[in-house]
Order: sequence, then C-alpha cells, then structure tokens
Amino acid sequence: MSRPLPRKLIVLNKQKVSGNMLRITLGGDALEDFPLDQESGYIKLHFAREDVLGGDIEQQLRSDDAKARPMLRTYTVRQQRQNPCEIDVDFVVHEGGPASDWAIHCNPGEQIYVAGPGKKKLINLAADWFFIAGDMTALPAISVNLALLPADARGYAVIEVLEEADIQPLPVPENFELYWVINNHKQGTNLLLDAVTALPVLAGAPSVWLACEFTSMRALRQYFHSDLQIKRRNVYASSYWKHGLTEEEHKLLKSADTQKELD
Ligand SMILES: Cc1cc2nc3c(=O)[nH]c(=O)nc-3n(C[C@H](O)[C@H](O)[C@H](O)COP(=O)(O)OP(=O)(O)OC[C@H]3O[C@@H](n4cnc5c(N)ncnc54)[C@H](O)[C@@H]3O)c2cc1C
Repeated sequence: MSRPLPRKLIVLNKQKVSGNMLRITLGGDALEDFPLDQESGYIKLHFAREDVLGGDIEQQLRSDDAKARPMLRTYTVRQQRQNPCEIDVDFVVHEGGPASDWAIHCNPGEQIYVAGPGKKKLINLAADWFFIAGDMTALPAISVNLALLPADARGYAVIEVLEEADIQPLPVPENFELYWVINNHKQGTNLLLDAVTALPVLAGAPSVWLACEFTSMRALRQYFHSDLQIKRRNVYASSYWKHGLTEEEHKLLKSADTQKELD
C-alpha cells in the first residue's frame, strides 16, 4: 500500500521579522483541513535528499527505505488564520542546514511538503507564578504562551536572541517581567542561564516552560529541578537544536537524554 503524502503547501509570502528571523506564510488547498487552534503546535517540513532517487521528493516520500526518505525539520506554527487558511512559520536563519537555506532562498509560489501538526506544549496555567525561558528558535512558541497568561500573572520571561535587532515587541501582563539576553553564540552557552538564575524566586508554586539549544536547556532544567527543587511535573523543558548537530543527530541525543531523565 502506498504511503499517504503529507500536505503540499504553497509559499504565499516571505518577510523579515527581525535581524535573523524570516517569516514564511504557507497556504493552499491542502491547508483547508488543517485543524484549528494550532498556534504553538509543531509541524515537520520535508526536504529532498539530493543524492537519492534523483533528488525527487515525491519518490523519496513514497520510499520505504528510511535512508531514502526526505529530511524532516521541526518548526512551530506561529500564527494561523482562516478564510483563507494560512499559517506563519518563523525561521531563525543560520549557516548551513536545509531548513534555514530553504527559508533564505524560497520564493512565493514554491511548494513544500508539511506533516503535522503535533501536540501543543503549552505552559500549565495552574500555578502561582510563571517562568518562561528560551532562545530564538522558541520565540514563536514563547509568543503564543505569553499571550495565554492571565492579566494578573506574575513571573518572568527571559529570551535569548542573536542581536539587538532580533528583539520583538511582545505584550506581557502588567506584573510580568520580560528580559532579553543578547548572545551571538560566540559568548558560550551560559548567558541565558546567568540571566535566569539572577532573578529572584517568587512565592508559591511556579510553572516553568523552557525551550532552547540542548546544552543550555540541560543547564536550565538542572537549575529548576535540582537547585530550586521544583517538581518535575511543573517544569516543561525541551531541547530544540544542538550546536554542531543536524536535527537527525540531535533527535538521537535528545531521546537518550529524555530516557536518562526518566530512569
Ligand atoms: C518542537 C520544536 C519546534 C521548533 N520550532 C522552531 C521554529 O519555529 N523556528 C526555528 O527557527 N527553529 C525551530 N526549531 C528548531 C529547528 O528545528 C532546528 O534549529 C533545526 O535544526 C533547523 O534545521 P536546519 O535544516 O536549518 O539545520 P540542521 O540541518 O538541523 O543543522 C545544520 C547545522 O546548523 C546548526 N543549527 C541548527 N539550528 C540552528 C540555529 N537555530 N542556530 C544556529 N545553528 C543552528 C546545527 O547545529 C548544525 O550544525 C524547533 C525545534 C523543535 C524541536
């Protein structure tokens, strides 16, 4: 039996959101049955392997050989609209990598295969206060989470960006503090952790949401779990990428890390 193909979407628009971030708007007939209310959910973009099956993505999609299947890259639904159905996906651009290269070079009218959406990982709102931290790859999901906070929410969001030109205006509740950390990756991985640990702990039970580069995420997770002794069920921590590893390699490391956490 042949495999069902993922949705074939069309690039409708491309715009620069900030210094190192591009927003690609995807749409087309195949988006019409995309479930509603998927902002912050993840999708998997498919990229052809140039060296297999003549670089033909449709043949690769139909292949049962895992090594011949397209490369998958995970991105977040930043915004979703209806009539017409559209989703916005924000890409951090960086050196090398099929997804980043595609975002830089794609043009309106181009097509891309997209699977998903996967389950949304939203901050648990049943808490006395909130701590959200992440880097630019998590900025789309963080923006959605911030918009969910109740008007009387207290707590912090600390967001690491590559340069000042990547700071975005994000509305937050009145008693909620938003901090930006500038790190172009030449200053090591500790700047986000340093900024997070510098903030005073508030009274009551917090809900913590973390997503960023692997090493950074582990350091932050350790701080909340071990140093602050926050119950695991109140800390969502996800690694979105890792320096020096492709998504396939990162995924293996991430599975091993998750297993170790569970043991
Ligand atoms: C649930 C989830 C949601 C995500 N949502 C988004 C999103 O909305 N926007 C977004 O930009 N990213 C997002 N990411 C991260 C994205 O999937 C990775 O950055 C991915 O590796 C990019 O693929 P690529 O083809 O560009 O690079 P790859 O081929 O995976 O990697 C090639 C090289 O680039 C490096 N690299 C990868 N990402 C970065 C980066 N951000 N900065 C610097 N170097 C990098 C790798 O370490 C490697 O050396 C998300 C990840 C997850 C797990």
